[in-house]
Amino acid sequence: MPELPEVETIVRGLHTRVAGDAVESVWIGSRPQPLKSPAGVIARTLEGKQIVRVHRAGKHIVFDLEGATGASQPKKGGRGVRGQPRQAASLRQSAQWIVHLGMTGRLVVCDAALEIAKHTHLIAKLASGRELRFIDPRMFGKLSVHAGGFDPGGVEPLEVSEAQFIALFRGRKTPIKSALLNQKLLRGVGNIYADESLFRAGIRPRRRAAAITREQLGKLHRTVREVLREAIALGGSSISDYVDADGEEGFFQLQHRVYGREGEPCLVCRTAIRRIVLAGRSSHYCSKCQK
Ligand SMILES: [Zn+2]
Repeated sequence: MPELPEVETIVRGLHTRVAGDAVESVWIGSRPQPLKSPAGVIARTLEGKQIVRVHRAGKHIVFDLEGATGASQPKKGGRGVRGQPRQAASLRQSAQWIVHLGMTGRLVVCDAALEIAKHTHLIAKLASGRELRFIDPRMFGKLSVHAGGFDPGGVEPLEVSEAQFIALFRGRKTPIKSALLNQKLLRGVGNIYADESLFRAGIRPRRRAAAITREQLGKLHRTVREVLREAIALGGSSISDYVDADGEEGFFQLQHRVYGREGEPCLVCRTAIRRIVLAGRSSHYCSKCQK
């Protein structure tokens, strides 16, 4: 499952490839599972729009669209654009296309002649002659459109200040690991990076957030961002592998210090790494380095 650094890498690759291009037409498959906005609304919103920018919000991929012919504001009712103020019709209409890759979702930029892979749910024909395709065998991915200002909730971990970070976690009765995974607090920190950040901060995953000092939370604030930044820096070199036509994932992984290393010696003190299950997720830690 792609985590924040992988999504950031994908987003950078997509931005390089498709920003400035325009969507001419959209084909959407018959499977309803990936569609979080009605198919017709997605198609009308994308068609005729220019892709201005591709960026990340948590683990969501956001395409900022602008164009003259979009129909992201339905004439009647509020289909697909809940809670957004109705805009006056304007020549330059903006909208957003949101893609969440789920477990196995992939966005591929390819030549139109390339054979269409199994499990392709959406094809956007681009003005450049290429196609942007969404492929997802397990269909946990989600496609939706928004009028603009998409906000998945939570605070962006790479932008959160130390004071904000401490305020988010201080006083919470849940284990710190569960709090780190709570997307309503920080968005986009997944299981692997939560374990790695806690190891570097010297905090056990099961510790109650309320029992952690300000200083330790300050340290965790630094390690969360350090781990994510290192992973993004590594991912940057594999951009082309990811979005290439054959869609092979080629991420260089951050060398995990605890995640997935149950029973192996701690890289700092040689104590065997332990694995516990917390809220249904594996957590890995060193019982000597983490308190
Ligand atoms: Zn250790």
